[in-house]
Amino acid sequence: MKLGDWVWRNGEWVKWEDATVHVSAHALHYGSSVFEGIRAYQTDKGTAILRLRPHTQRLVNSCKIARIGLELTAEDLDNAILETVRRNAHPACYIRPLTFRSTGPAFGLNARNNKIETIIMTWEWGAYLGEEGLKNGIDAQVSSYRRMVPMPMGKIGGQYVNSSIISMEASDNGFTEGIALDLQGHVSEGAGENIFVVHNNMLYTPGAGSSILLGVTRDSVIQLAADMGLQVRYETIAREMLYVADEVFMTGTAAEITPIRSVDRVKVGEGKPGPITKALQDSFFAVTSGKAEDTHGWLTYV
Ligand code: PMP
Repeated sequence: MKLGDWVWRNGEWVKWEDATVHVSAHALHYGSSVFEGIRAYQTDKGTAILRLRPHTQRLVNSCKIARIGLELTAEDLDNAILETVRRNAHPACYIRPLTFRSTGPAFGLNARNNKIETIIMTWEWGAYLGEEGLKNGIDAQVSSYRRMVPMPMGKIGGQYVNSSIISMEASDNGFTEGIALDLQGHVSEGAGENIFVVHNNMLYTPGAGSSILLGVTRDSVIQLAADMGLQVRYETIAREMLYVADEVFMTGTAAEITPIRSVDRVKVGEGKPGPITKALQDSFFAVTSGKAEDTHGWLTYV
């Protein structure tokens, strides 16, 4: 994995190895950070960032939800991200902006006068759930842990203890990824991905009320599905639907569009990526590779 040489930190350039924090930083103790995951892709016309503004806007929104006083605007963040990708000269990379409550006068929970810091780091990252998984589908399990976070719409550091446990439990049990149910027992989402189900030629995904992060890739898939004449239904999804569905797939910036070939060792459909998943994957990668026209204006060239 190639790491970006430079980290953008509060408007300054710091070498990767020097981008450290003090052990008293608030976020380290209480999870008071918010972050984003963004991808830049290699195209024939150069490196392009996928859906930059929806990500930076979500970071601004997450700060509001977490009561973190961010002084940067979405536009400031866009510019800083573009500069970081340029400076680190990656052909393609994963981009991680992070805003956190840092050191300051308070060590307790209410630490509004502590410093707020923002960093942007980059690294070159392949398929998050594996190239093999992207092509042939992954094996997933329904987690024994529920998606139990208080503010699912915010991408907030502390909440990711839940996702980490779900992901580690799945891997300990021999699965590639875990799927969390919400507190009512309906399908919520993967540890770091949204979920879609195809059943009788209809596409379903849990709605905002099912404790999901409103994913940017989820939104891209909804737009691509509409381009193909497929309507998406936002419904509460019963766990059993994962077993009887024709197709199931996950979406995320890191995971992109990853087919699921089995859930809890029960084969999904024929146990391989289905036609709708494949068609959505193809049109997604046609845009990210610059081969298809960017009709929705998703790419920002670096
Ligand atoms: N849910 C969770 C919990 C996530 O961490 C992510 C990754 N950001 C997603 C869904 C997918 O969101 P996106 O498509 O915006 O990356």
